[in-house]
Amino acid sequence: MNQNYDAIVIGCGPAGAACSTILASKGRRVLVLEREKFPRYHIGESLIPYTYFPLERLGLIPAMKASHFPKKYSVQFVNPSGRVSEPFYFFQHLKHEAACTWQVLRSEFDQMLMDNARASGAEIREQTTARELLRADGRVTGVRAAGPDGQPADYHAPFTIDATGRDAFAVSRNGWKVRDPYLNKIAIWTYYQGAMRDPGLDEGATTVAYVEEKGWFWYIPLPDDVVSVGIVAEKDYLYNGTRDLEEIFNREVGRNAWIGKHLAPGRRTEPFRVTGEFSYRSQYCAEDGLVLIGDAFAFLDPVFSSGVFLALRSGEIAAGVIDEALSANDVSAARFDGYSSEMRQGIEAMRRLVYAFYDHNFSFGAVIREHPHLAGDLTDCLIGNLLIDFEPLFEAVGRFARVPAPLEYGTPLPAVR
Ligand SMILES: Cc1cc2nc3c(=O)[nH]c(=O)nc-3n(C[C@H](O)[C@H](O)[C@H](O)COP(=O)(O)OP(=O)(O)OC[C@H]3O[C@@H](n4cnc5c(N)ncnc54)[C@H](O)[C@@H]3O)c2cc1C
Repeated sequence: MNQNYDAIVIGCGPAGAACSTILASKGRRVLVLEREKFPRYHIGESLIPYTYFPLERLGLIPAMKASHFPKKYSVQFVNPSGRVSEPFYFFQHLKHEAACTWQVLRSEFDQMLMDNARASGAEIREQTTARELLRADGRVTGVRAAGPDGQPADYHAPFTIDATGRDAFAVSRNGWKVRDPYLNKIAIWTYYQGAMRDPGLDEGATTVAYVEEKGWFWYIPLPDDVVSVGIVAEKDYLYNGTRDLEEIFNREVGRNAWIGKHLAPGRRTEPFRVTGEFSYRSQYCAEDGLVLIGDAFAFLDPVFSSGVFLALRSGEIAAGVIDEALSANDVSAARFDGYSSEMRQGIEAMRRLVYAFYDHNFSFGAVIREHPHLAGDLTDCLIGNLLIDFEPLFEAVGRFARVPAPLEYGTPLPAVR
């Protein structure tokens, strides 16, 4: 085959960077097309402990340890009147240094990932936007993209990897987006400087603070005394009476005593941001010559901070499959069967927990009080150890809350016979 590259990766967020780093370090010729000029802003700042393992694979643990990112030892839950649950300290369950994770400034974290991909040998073109998938003989053969001068150019490779995040490049072009029927939320968020931090080990904790039966706030400590704070709830609830983001945010701050108290000494430093389209999955994870990774494949409500981990992990697994497929000179979608199973199993575990979280009858405390032996399984889910058997946990959770059946979507596109 007369191809310029072995693989073209669209998007250099965590998923695309992980995939391109691994492929390039195996000696594959990798082109990465990234729309933005890095460093660029991105939401998704709180990591979970199992993120350690893909970061270790990428050789980035020393850089993470040397960074100024706050260390995150736990997650804690706060009820609307301000009462704080016993924090889930990850080290109580996970006897590995991975138990201490980080709250990251995504502009810096993603730059670190991109630099690492470049250092591994990937060719990265920033300010280059993929516009079209190129096809021949019933398979994807590359990408048409426009660089900084706006001129389109065609790039060819046996594999194209869609890592475009929630832009979901291939999903929108192929009509593959399937929204989660229940997890239909929006988020409004901003940043404060000088807001209150808890002392000691809890200084870098993620706090999830409930708004009575309606939604939740995240409160994530970042470098330079900044906190990321946002509310997630049903669109109709948040937009009831006004569409002014500041008014909505302040109204909701008044509905959780802990958030109100913690923000009070701080000063808002950024405008409000908003996003919708929560929780979707692609009908297919791959077609011949194309695979979808990270948010471009599936996005899950961020309450348990699973997105960056799933993105890195999907990039890592997909890279392994692609490397083998290149050696076998076989670009068929069916090669991604195992990738699909592992990603879907992990996403479904998190998804069941997310559903339970939104069920008014559910509380972590109640489940664990009644089934103390399941505390470890629950923590495994929260830290990202997603490939264990969660049936006993979700059977117990199912007595308190609605637990959804797995979605059928996300397999490779079957070959046309
Ligand atoms: C409100 C909210 C809160 C969240 N909180 C957390 C959290 O606390 N912890 C967590 O782990 N996750 C969180 N997430 C999820 C997290 O942001 C994502 O899961 C993660 O960024 C996915 O990584 P990715 O590499 O798939 O995509 P992205 O990080 O989105 O990267 C995609 C890249 O593709 C580029 N791109 C897009 N289209 C094109 C194109 N046509 N051509 C070229 N380049 C293109 C973009 O510029 C971007 O750089 C949150 C998400 C939301 C919406």
